[in-house]
Amino acid sequence: MGSTGSIGTSALEVVRSLGPEYRVAGLAANRRWRDLADQSRAFGPSAVAIADPAHVESLRPLVNGSTEVLAGPEGLVELARRQDSDFVIAAIVGAAGLASTIAAVEAGKDVGLANKEALVVAGSILVPLARRTGSRLLPIDSEHSAIFQSMAAGRRSEVHKVYLTASGGPFRTWTGDQIALATLEDALRHPTWDMGPKITIDSATMMNKALEIIEACWLFDLRPESVEVLIHPESIIHSMVEFCDGSVVAQLGTPDMKTPIQYTLTWPDRAAGCARRLDFRTIRRLNFEPPDMERFPALRLGYEVARQGGTAGAVFNAANEQAVQAFRDGRIPFGRIVELTERVLERHRVETRPTLEGLLAADAWARQEVSTCLKD
Ligand code: NAD
Ligand code: MG
Repeated sequence: MGSTGSIGTSALEVVRSLGPEYRVAGLAANRRWRDLADQSRAFGPSAVAIADPAHVESLRPLVNGSTEVLAGPEGLVELARRQDSDFVIAAIVGAAGLASTIAAVEAGKDVGLANKEALVVAGSILVPLARRTGSRLLPIDSEHSAIFQSMAAGRRSEVHKVYLTASGGPFRTWTGDQIALATLEDALRHPTWDMGPKITIDSATMMNKALEIIEACWLFDLRPESVEVLIHPESIIHSMVEFCDGSVVAQLGTPDMKTPIQYTLTWPDRAAGCARRLDFRTIRRLNFEPPDMERFPALRLGYEVARQGGTAGAVFNAANEQAVQAFRDGRIPFGRIVELTERVLERHRVETRPTLEGLLAADAWARQEVSTCLKD
């Protein structure tokens, strides 16, 4: 799901490198029908799905005759459910990936989860659902993959805390005033990772790390206080787990998403990887610093939302998605992304035990609220 994106294309590279044991049963994208058609011809899935139905007729003649073409958000849900696949890579960006992720979990499939927004919005639905169906949520997010791998060094009851590392993004050394007026070009210049535009902007506001705090709480059943964000500009240590005896176990690697993507596919085994390797002869030092909550208030919000639970995650995520879009459209300065998100959160009355409908309503409300704020 999201095969034409940054994670999606890396996932296909991994599948190709793993060899014939792995077969692509389905591919899905939003609008990039030409790329989807190319991928379809290269990987020969039994079905492809395009979320934007406007492109279905352009796509159809370009795929093999044996490949079924599904359309619209329902098409993606159907694809995620189909019985000819046993593993789904959730790599759609934003809450738009939630429905197909739920469908895969409902069908009892294991999920390689890149789409962190799905968990931020609906962890309270997805996690218990996965427990019921036996589906496993295997993290693709590099930090969470590192935590998952490091956790294997002890028992869950022996975990003292988790260090969630962060590069600090392009504005790590900028002043608050400089950050407030950063341009789109500045925000898209990530120092260590090459990613899709939304997560790149989230890394610049550090909203990405805020979402990851919440993601970690859901994936590993942690309290927000036991997740400590640590700035590590080199992005070599992908995260660490501290155990009760004081031992800290970390996972390291070059900043390349192919490594965590592959681990979800081969887990609990490992296979030869296709990403560049670390070379410790060229690494002179690894640096660490505490995060600055003043310049990056998104982090403080992330902890607050993780503590609040209920509908707070859905509102937080949706407001941020809308604010990021407004920034990309040139409608607001960079500094307003987090400010708007916080304002919408403040206006929200958290519902503590929401249904899925309640979460989707909170998401829709937050998007509307951002639009209203923009008109003020
Ligand atoms: P991207 O923008 O490069 O790709 C997004 C994909 O989702 C595309 O295939 C697009 O067609 C599809 N898509 C977008 N909107 C859709 C919609 N409404 N319906 C159906 N499909 C839709 O994004 P990305 O960087 O690959 O990120 C994907 C997810 O992975 C995000 O949740 C992101 O936070 C997470 N993630 C990405 C990275 C990375 O290195 N890129 C790292 C960690 C986590
Ligand atoms: Mg990450």
